Amino acid sequence: MKEIKFSDFESEVLQGGKVALDFYSTECPPCEALAPKFDNLHELFGKEIKFLKIFRQENRELADKLGVSSSPTVIFFDNGKEVGQRLSGGIKRSELIEGFKSLLPAERIEKIKSTIKPSVTECDVAILGGGPGGLTAGLYLCQAKVNAILIDIGLPGGHVSTTHQVSNYPGFIDPQPGYLLSHYMSEQTKQCGTQYKVAVDVTKVDLDKKEVTIDEFETIRAKKIIVGTGTAPNLLGVPGEIELKGNGISYCATCDAKYFVDKEVIVIGGGNSAIEEADFISKFAGKITVVHQFAKLQANKTAQEKAFANKKMNFLLEHEPRAFRKSGNKVEVDVEDLKTKKIKTLTTDGVFIFIGMKPNISLFKGKFDLDDWGYIKTDDDKRTNIPGVFAVGDVSSKKYRQITTAIADGTIAAIAITKELDN
Ligand SMILES: Cc1cc2nc3c(=O)[nH]c(=O)nc-3n(C[C@H](O)[C@H](O)[C@H](O)COP(=O)(O)OP(=O)(O)OC[C@H]3O[C@@H](n4cnc5c(N)ncnc54)[C@H](O)[C@@H]3O)c2cc1C
Repeated sequence: MKEIKFSDFESEVLQGGKVALDFYSTECPPCEALAPKFDNLHELFGKEIKFLKIFRQENRELADKLGVSSSPTVIFFDNGKEVGQRLSGGIKRSELIEGFKSLLPAERIEKIKSTIKPSVTECDVAILGGGPGGLTAGLYLCQAKVNAILIDIGLPGGHVSTTHQVSNYPGFIDPQPGYLLSHYMSEQTKQCGTQYKVAVDVTKVDLDKKEVTIDEFETIRAKKIIVGTGTAPNLLGVPGEIELKGNGISYCATCDAKYFVDKEVIVIGGGNSAIEEADFISKFAGKITVVHQFAKLQANKTAQEKAFANKKMNFLLEHEPRAFRKSGNKVEVDVEDLKTKKIKTLTTDGVFIFIGMKPNISLFKGKFDLDDWGYIKTDDDKRTNIPGVFAVGDVSSKKYRQITTAIADGTIAAIAITKELDN
């Protein structure tokens, strides 16, 4: 692995060869998450691909010239020409290997992969999910000197990291940006000593053996498992939704509202998160039409009053979307009037869908006792029906899903586990 500067770019990158170039920064958790994967792949693929790192903050001129605006960003070059897709954010090992396909034949990549020796890491507790529930469990376990590994398919933080402002988390007088609050939570747990395996593919989970396999070849073997995998947005399930996801349809206002300055958007849903997120989107968009299936919004009174007072917001009640299509840069939305059954087409710049959540349990099919809504049942100590397996936060059966309740669950499970391990 070689560290380069702007002055080396010509000789190291542009003058031939196959290159994977990582623009990194300091104090950058996704860069820290990428570093061991990049190192490990360098060991495997280093004979065929040149792995280079460049410190973005000290080489801004080159970063600007190449249009690199976030860290980490990995760019692939073949004979001096950029190839394949750029990678940024929480970069997975599998995404890097996919990227190598722009440099090497697929058979060569498979041959090199076949030399990987599977590894097993032992620990006391494997925590699946780094939202507030999992992070708090990691903190309490670490402070009790219990050896825990926290595993997340993305970067730690869970939903909080994409929540615009959090105003109901105790200890802060002013609302806190969600990304900052989740950053503090994550750093506190990491600095305590809980090991992180983040932005990984969770390939297999054996709850009975307490084994979690990540990135195909690395198995974490634990004495206990905590499942804190949270929830994911519900889909409407109408034609065009999947195809336009990320290309006109979004499920995250914090992530995407900024792309709709002075544009028109449609928000689907009428509950608290739909109305609060619509209010946030109105800071950017010029006009918002809220499409909701019932005659009244379901959001609480405060959110409704704010929404009705917002001049940018319009409401199309008792209507449901039936199909989405792309038309140039616009999105066409067929909506049905539930009273007349007539369908009309709305044309908009973008659509945001907020129609509730579902638990992330697809990895554990048939293993857990679930409640009527598909959430994992637990006892008061957050134990599930599987011995040694606990469930915390939004994925578990409960009445109220909030940051504070997820944190409470993480605390309870960690203390219960610490006591069990001590006996
Ligand atoms: C838009 C929005 C706004 C909100 N605003 C507020 C608010 O203002 N105040 C408040 O108190 N609450 C708010 N909430 C609710 C709050 O965010 C959740 O209750 C809380 O984040 C739940 O924490 P959790 O740890 O259970 O799960 P999550 O935060 O959902 O985190 C789950 C983690 O598990 C990971 N994961 C998923 N599948 C796997 C897998 N197979 N293996 C490993 N990891 C996996 C995910 O990547 C994620 O990091 C809001 C929620 C949303 C969606």
